[in-house]
Amino acid sequence: MSDPLVSRMREFGTTIFAEMSALAVRTGSINLGQGFPDTDGPDSMLERAVEAIRSGANQYPPGPGTPELRQAVAEHRERHYGLGYDPDGEILVTVGATEAIAASVLALCEPGDEVIAFEPYYDSYAASIALAGARLSAVTLRPVDGRFTFDPAELRAAVTPRTRAILVNSPHNPTGTVFTRAELAEIAALCQDHDLTAITDEVYEHLTFDGVEHVPLATLPGMRERTVMISSAGKTFSVTGWKTGWICAPPRHVKAVQTVKQFLTFTAAAPWQLAVAHGLRHELDWVAALRDSLQAKRDRLMGGLAAAGFEVLKPSGTYFVQTDIRPLGFTDGLELTRRLPELAGVVAIPTQVFYDHAERGSHFVRFAFCKKDEVIDEAADRLKRLSAGEA
Ligand code: PMP
Ligand code: GLN
Repeated sequence: MSDPLVSRMREFGTTIFAEMSALAVRTGSINLGQGFPDTDGPDSMLERAVEAIRSGANQYPPGPGTPELRQAVAEHRERHYGLGYDPDGEILVTVGATEAIAASVLALCEPGDEVIAFEPYYDSYAASIALAGARLSAVTLRPVDGRFTFDPAELRAAVTPRTRAILVNSPHNPTGTVFTRAELAEIAALCQDHDLTAITDEVYEHLTFDGVEHVPLATLPGMRERTVMISSAGKTFSVTGWKTGWICAPPRHVKAVQTVKQFLTFTAAAPWQLAVAHGLRHELDWVAALRDSLQAKRDRLMGGLAAAGFEVLKPSGTYFVQTDIRPLGFTDGLELTRRLPELAGVVAIPTQVFYDHAERGSHFVRFAFCKKDEVIDEAADRLKRLSAGEA
């Protein structure tokens, strides 16, 4: 029988996160692959969700999201970034950032349009672009002095008359790069010169280290009016299973994205929205403490990985560390990560699956550090087997 899956989705198969988490469960390995924390979000926010359910917030909320969350998002944007968004018409609550990305691409891109994204890129970008019948044009981030960045000339060369949008993820998964103002200014100039829409994935906006500041692209001159800014509660409050995100954008863009979103999910789950509104209003100190604790975990895992023989690249944000596997005598990260449970009882993510030019990332492997200290230590200890000749 022929494959019932539409041809434009056939290349996608199962996500690497699902594959690697299943491998971890099957082999009883420590899972430093999929990025999810092994501790819960702030107590008062969890309590607010329980209370919301018990007090009857169990029917469809309004399509754009509950007014409480839209108001809390507007206040937060204003306070943190000095960006004013009207809760009525400039904010749309989505089922995680994933839906926000898919609905934005589907709403804003015609078949045949091109969308620029930096590779390695988060896997849902390519799938959303394919669903829209558009084409992804990948600009490669390469390590320069231990930090992944792009060549502005390569970025400019990626624009064609069909380019419609650029997807910008900062802090960047999977490299941990936080774009500087100078890098963002290059992107902003490109958007303005070629009339591109920027879709910014800022799910790690609060998780930056060493005093590095996250700068939203929409804060650069002339960018607010052409940027669809995407956030999510999942990473900010360690509730990745709540799948609650939002878009902030000019009214025309929000209307376009909502037109698509209403037929994907219509609205997002009610109790989480009330709880996330509470979190944005009352738990930002908790988020600051999470950031500090993650910085210490980053350093802990980096030390362990270096001791195990990896070359380690220091991230300025996110949950993830990139490693170069060549000092250990390996060259293919996909092959290594598939064998890693058997070699060391640990699961990681092969970075090459996030590239169009897979060969440019074949020697990189991503490890997540959003785990308890004892889990990180045990994983680091096990990974020493790789260089101890046991592999
Ligand atoms: N974008 C990036 C860069 C991510 O790492 C993730 C995973 N949190 C998402 C989007 C998806 O976010 P959500 O779980 O809110 O859909
Ligand atoms: N964002 C998480 C990561 O990059 C995983 C999300 C997912 O499983 N799709 O690891």
